[in-house]
Amino acid sequence: MTATPHYTQFIDGHWVDTDRTFDIIDPANGELVATAARGSVENLDQAVAAAQAAHARGEWRSKTPDERADILSAMVADLSERMDELVALHVKENGVTIRQAMAFHVGYSISHLQYFADLARTYEFERSGPQLSYPTLASGIVRREPIGVVGGIVPWNFPLLLAVWKLGPALAAGNTIVLKPDEKTPLTLLELAKSAERAGLPKGVLNIVTGAGEEVGARLAAHPDVRKIAFTGSTAVGREISKLAAENIKKVTLELGGKGPNIVLADADIDSAVDGALFACFLYAGQACESGTRLLLPESLHDEFVDRLVQRAATIKVGDPSEFDTDIGPVISAEQHARILDYIEIGQKEGATLAFGGEPPTGTQFEQGHWVRPTIFTDVMPEMRIAREEIFGPVLSVLKYRTVDEAVAIANDTEYGLSAGVWSEDLEAALDVAARIESGTVWINDWHMVNALYPFGGYKQSGNGRELGPHALDEYTEEKFVHVDLSRSLD
Ligand code: NAD
Repeated sequence: MTATPHYTQFIDGHWVDTDRTFDIIDPANGELVATAARGSVENLDQAVAAAQAAHARGEWRSKTPDERADILSAMVADLSERMDELVALHVKENGVTIRQAMAFHVGYSISHLQYFADLARTYEFERSGPQLSYPTLASGIVRREPIGVVGGIVPWNFPLLLAVWKLGPALAAGNTIVLKPDEKTPLTLLELAKSAERAGLPKGVLNIVTGAGEEVGARLAAHPDVRKIAFTGSTAVGREISKLAAENIKKVTLELGGKGPNIVLADADIDSAVDGALFACFLYAGQACESGTRLLLPESLHDEFVDRLVQRAATIKVGDPSEFDTDIGPVISAEQHARILDYIEIGQKEGATLAFGGEPPTGTQFEQGHWVRPTIFTDVMPEMRIAREEIFGPVLSVLKYRTVDEAVAIANDTEYGLSAGVWSEDLEAALDVAARIESGTVWINDWHMVNALYPFGGYKQSGNGRELGPHALDEYTEEKFVHVDLSRSLD
């Protein structure tokens, strides 16, 4: 029998163990995948002190952007070599299907880290401003400098990718960082720390503390030496983090929840819109913040669309996430499972029609682990809880609309504003709807297409700031204006 792997924290370039541990459980079968050190507030303080000292030594921030890019690229090369290992670990760590782990969870983590390395090379860290002639002759320089110690807190659903979205721009810009993964999913991020070690990242520049949210996460958000906090997770915790960060006027970026409206216009191509609606909601068992969970159908298409939706939903294969033909794996935990089933009951009590799913899948392979079948509710009214609250599971709410104005009003009638979609063969009509939706991303005739070249983030209570895109480093730099009086040089 092979021993269960044990993972330790990465602090100041050392692997740091603790007496207490977290069990990392495979959500598909309840088996123990590994144990991980359960870090303390003291560990967090050590990590911040190490990041602070590394920043003060300046060996990272004083490297040229090209030198930093070279080290980040060496990390990318190391991660790429270990792709298969990371994919397998990811599947076990959070139950994502192997196909999705390859494409999104690990594939994007690697390519997005490369994007940030490349951005370091091209980003304008310094520029000359216009020459001033009044009241004196002067020139201006505008510099973008690292902020200092950055804190990053990430959830379980994309534990590696969402960490890369923080450490990538933070390190490209010359900051140091302390990251806190979710208690359930620290493994792939700790594997990334091994790549950082091998790539020659100076010690103390990247630190990973594997502690509980309400103790270690809260301390990171409150720590006076952490100058910026980048958080991805629920809106409720994001609100708490904002309050803690406000005490020291930290810079804050938040990527929070969503309730994505997916509007099908009357002229849409039904086949692709049906596939798209299922992809939007059920990918990764609905555990993506950007999922399309509210499907808005025009009365004219509604019945035919729902018929086809239900027929296609029946072909989605729920099962072992390590098999290539599986479409949907388990949900992350018993707690999340119970929460999703609660919402399915709430939907029925509220009077929505359960058109598909609802009950758990049957078969011996589903006796262990946490499973929910894709579930579709029709006759959903905008005021119902299943139309308003983020379920974070494979539950689609179908709403009917009469006019496009009404569809836009329903789409915007939410505190969230992360992602949305429009399906139409008329690009102008789709663009017009896209312009009217209050959302950080709108996909036309597509979904889930998050791209490193474009910004990602939320309107309203879906967050603050943007990750990715050419301006990603703005969120990780302070802007400094240097005024140079030139009048004396004229004498
Ligand atoms: P969560 O907010 O419960 O946890 C996220 C992280 O915060 C974890 O690391 C957790 O340990 C930590 N945490 C918990 N309580 C804390 C506290 N009091 N102080 C500091 N840290 C604390 O989120 P979750 O339920 O694990 O993840 C799902 C949520 O994340 C969903 O709402 C989803 O929409 C959101 N999400 C958003 C995006 C995005 O980019 N907008 C991406 C993925 C997930």
